Amino acid sequence: MALEPQIKSAPTPVILIVEPYGGSIRQQNPNLPMVFWDDAALTRGDGIFETLLIRDGHACNVRRHGERFKASAVLLGLPEPILEDWEKATQMGIESWYSHPNAGEASCTWTLSRGRSSTGLASGWLTITPVSSDKLAQREHGVSVMTSSRGYSIDTGLPGIGKATRGELSKVERTPAPWLTVGAKTLAYAANMAALRYAKSNGFDDVIFTDGDRVLEGATSTVVSFKGDKIRTPSPGGDILPGTTQAALFAHATEKGWRCKEKDLSIDDLFGADSVWLVSSVRGPVRVTRLDGHKLRKPDNEKEIKALITKALG
Ligand code: PLP
Repeated sequence: MALEPQIKSAPTPVILIVEPYGGSIRQQNPNLPMVFWDDAALTRGDGIFETLLIRDGHACNVRRHGERFKASAVLLGLPEPILEDWEKATQMGIESWYSHPNAGEASCTWTLSRGRSSTGLASGWLTITPVSSDKLAQREHGVSVMTSSRGYSIDTGLPGIGKATRGELSKVERTPAPWLTVGAKTLAYAANMAALRYAKSNGFDDVIFTDGDRVLEGATSTVVSFKGDKIRTPSPGGDILPGTTQAALFAHATEKGWRCKEKDLSIDDLFGADSVWLVSSVRGPVRVTRLDGHKLRKPDNEKEIKALITKALG
């Protein structure tokens, strides 16, 4: 008798509502609507988020995500996240996720929105979903990347931003736009997603934003280069989101004897590196195989670097 092919059922997404003012975490049926029509997350993109990797039954790099979540909330004047609640919700979500026999790696997103205009109260929720096959393939095979200006420049007059270098800061007499939320991981990702779509429609997998010759960051990742025993990333802050993966990598790699430095990188520096990587929480280490159509060299220690970054995430 012929056996029926076994089709593995996928685990259902896990959704938890996390009350931003404390006291309540409740699981929500993922097939039911949950966010109100007048929630600022939908109407204005006014809120913040974090995306954590769930692997081997635990969430990775939780402390750094919590710190950035808090810092983002401060920058946007949102209620300070009660991290104990978010961590508890993450744990509850993980238990629910792994109750499914086919649960593998997952992406856990914390969202804190300014909330409903009718109530004036912030809203928060957490989701756990599978890591897409696209992301897994990029981790495995690397990505072809185009460089592009962001199309706008950001100048808050703060260190590391715009043209003001640290040495010149005393000459900066006014702060041009003190309300800017740069440095916060906000929900306003439409421009980054548009840049990614543009890259894909032109045969690339991803984008590295640049300011003139200065390398900034990927659309959803931090740029890291390896050369000899040196690891470099453009100084985070200002128009470069401080990445939790890069921070974890630098802490771990320094312990292992690598020389890590946050320092401006030029496009030429990327071409001259032994290898260039886009790093982020869920995709993890993704090697840049081509930059603006030019092949980048494949390092002999590619596996070692992947293992180093993967280990750093905890
Ligand atoms: N830079 C940008 C613009 C991002 O969107 C992300 C992640 O989404 C990163 C960097 C990498 O951050 P992390 O390593 O914390 O995931």
